[in-house]
Amino acid sequence: MAQSLPEPFRSLVVRCGQELNALRGYPEDRFADIIQEVGFSCDLCTRCCTRAFNGHVHLLDDDAERVYSHDPAALEPAFPYAFCDLHGTFYVSGYTIRSRQDAAGSCLFLEDGRCRIYNDRPMICRVYPFMLHREPDGEGVIDWRQISGLDEHGYYHTHIPRDEAFRVARKTRAFEEALLCHEMAFLEFIGDYFSRNGLRHVRKVYDDRMREYERGAAVRVMVYFRGRFEPCEVCPGQAVRMTG
Ligand code: SF4
Repeated sequence: MAQSLPEPFRSLVVRCGQELNALRGYPEDRFADIIQEVGFSCDLCTRCCTRAFNGHVHLLDDDAERVYSHDPAALEPAFPYAFCDLHGTFYVSGYTIRSRQDAAGSCLFLEDGRCRIYNDRPMICRVYPFMLHREPDGEGVIDWRQISGLDEHGYYHTHIPRDEAFRVARKTRAFEEALLCHEMAFLEFIGDYFSRNGLRHVRKVYDDRMREYERGAAVRVMVYFRGRFEPCEVCPGQAVRMTG
């Protein structure tokens, strides 16, 4: 499939495949060791539920469906958008949860320091702050990251039993794997979509449209969800309008 895709999608799919292999090859006992060494436990500071600390919440399709069932207006296309075609339409791999207009950009579901949809919270909120993916460090050297926001929140060196550390390791890997598989499916779909419709990603159009958006203009965003694109209209500070 990847070979028949246009660039940049072909290279991105290949890179995703390499990441997936690396993730699957990461030793589970090594991850469990790190989880036990760090001994993280939550201090309910709620910083992880803000954009100021964490950026947006990555939603898998099942997560987006659960969020929608609580509040259809809580979903918006995940930002920043990944691609823009020559006509100025943006494309992104999924939804995220809208944030409040407060200084920290708190999640819409954060109320009085608690999650309003705790039992239905997204996968990423269940595994956080554990992660298992590769990122460049300050010098640009790519290495594994296993804990997010180390020493910036929570308690450390608490006792985590071995079976619990393995449970966390397995759950975190499953989430990262699902996220990568979703990203690959998005790239394959958009590559094929662009090829069939004579489209291409144009960086200049992306930047021009983004400037218009920042000045208050509505933009059209195609969100990859359940194997197809859902068209949305997004205007700064307003609820997203589905236009499909
Ligand atoms: S869904 Fe709940 S746990 Fe997740 S970021 Fe929002 S308030 Fe926090």
